[in-house]
Amino acid sequence: MPKKHHPTAGQDSAVFLDHLPEKPRSSLLPQQNDVSLNRSCATIETVFPRCSYIGRFAPSPTGPLHFGSLITAFASYCEAKSHGGKWLVRIEDTDIPRIYPHSESHILACLEAFHFESDAPILFQKDRLEIYEDVLLQLQQNDLIYACQCTRKILGSNAIYSGTCRNLKLPFAHQAIRLKVADQDICFEDPLQGRHCSNLQQDLGDFILKRRDGIISYQLAVVVDDYLQGVTHVVRGADLLDNTARQIWLGQCLHYPPLHYMHLPLAMNRQGQKLSKQNLAHALDIKQAPFLLAQAAQALQQPALDLDHPEIMLKQAVQQWNRDLIPKQQQLTGNYL
Ligand SMILES: [Zn+2]
Repeated sequence: MPKKHHPTAGQDSAVFLDHLPEKPRSSLLPQQNDVSLNRSCATIETVFPRCSYIGRFAPSPTGPLHFGSLITAFASYCEAKSHGGKWLVRIEDTDIPRIYPHSESHILACLEAFHFESDAPILFQKDRLEIYEDVLLQLQQNDLIYACQCTRKILGSNAIYSGTCRNLKLPFAHQAIRLKVADQDICFEDPLQGRHCSNLQQDLGDFILKRRDGIISYQLAVVVDDYLQGVTHVVRGADLLDNTARQIWLGQCLHYPPLHYMHLPLAMNRQGQKLSKQNLAHALDIKQAPFLLAQAAQALQQPALDLDHPEIMLKQAVQQWNRDLIPKQQQLTGNYL
């Protein structure tokens, strides 16, 4: 992919130039001066003066962590640390009705038991709703969002939103809020999954940033917090590949610098389903932490880890880490619980 200059890339983002998405050509995008969130590592929440590599692990407390979550935590940690980078933890708990009792405490207990130490205080999205509302206000001022009154019944089974409410200028209160998308390809290079492109208008339509019930969407919270935490590299499961174009587009609308994305192959159960809270994947057993860490390394086809204290095992894992060994596919072979 040829190197391109991105109109929103600040001085600190020179490291991103290899992986820039296509420059947006849409008239939807505001001029850079319209948005005052120009990024500078010194002024955002991150405490790190230079931002060459900041990775993160961002679980949702909608159930206990399972082996698939461990693979994501392990890979994102090893990628960050083997680049001499920082690694952050963020709890994505904006979808309050889906939060599962005690799963947050299980996540925190796992992080401690596996010795995954965040390099900054753990951030909880439910404490940050005002920040997301401020960003919505910016998008509103730039005419990039609108209120949508369509009910589920009206939308029916249509996967693509046709833009019914785009020009209705409905008041925002008590309505879903949608982001306008453009008829253009959004592309990114993934070191494991290759080049991915999506035309949001044709594949999805204008998408929701805030639900009618007031819940901030995953897409909005993720993009804003990755930016405010200074995250440069996103390592996560391949089940989130479809979200990436949306997040790139939203980041472009806000003039945030582009991120690097790497989507890991997913651990599957015996039935060939990805491990998830929905299909009752086993909660990680913190008493088995060394064994599970060794299994995570093995699943990603990394050199074997010696069973030891998790802190020592993670050091060994970082030293031995070789991203090129990870299977370049969307699913891992083998059955996991
Ligand atoms: Zn609508």
